[in-house]
Amino acid sequence: MSNLYLECACSSNEHLVKVTYDVDSGIPSASFVSIEVQLSKQSWYRRIWPAIKYVFGYESKYGHWDETLLNLQQVGKLHALLHTFSKEVEEAKSLESSKETT
Ligand SMILES: [Zn+2]
Repeated sequence: MSNLYLECACSSNEHLVKVTYDVDSGIPSASFVSIEVQLSKQSWYRRIWPAIKYVFGYESKYGHWDETLLNLQQVGKLHALLHTFSKEVEEAKSLESSKETT
């Protein structure tokens, strides 16, 4: 399992993204990349209005989104992690197929 933290171009900790991958050598197709975002803490009175809207089923026509802007350095880190993940999955697949042929 490998972790990577990507910082938003605005440097806000609320936009920090955690990318994790885990290669399952026994079942390569079960390997995954996980992307997690941290929910920002708000005071109770700032949470109550969205909570009321949620309970009564209000939906914005755009959905509920936030964003993290990755600069070139962060994109390079993400690219390197995904490249390593793909390489490890392919290696696990080739090991699995070599076991099946023997
Ligand atoms: Zn940001």
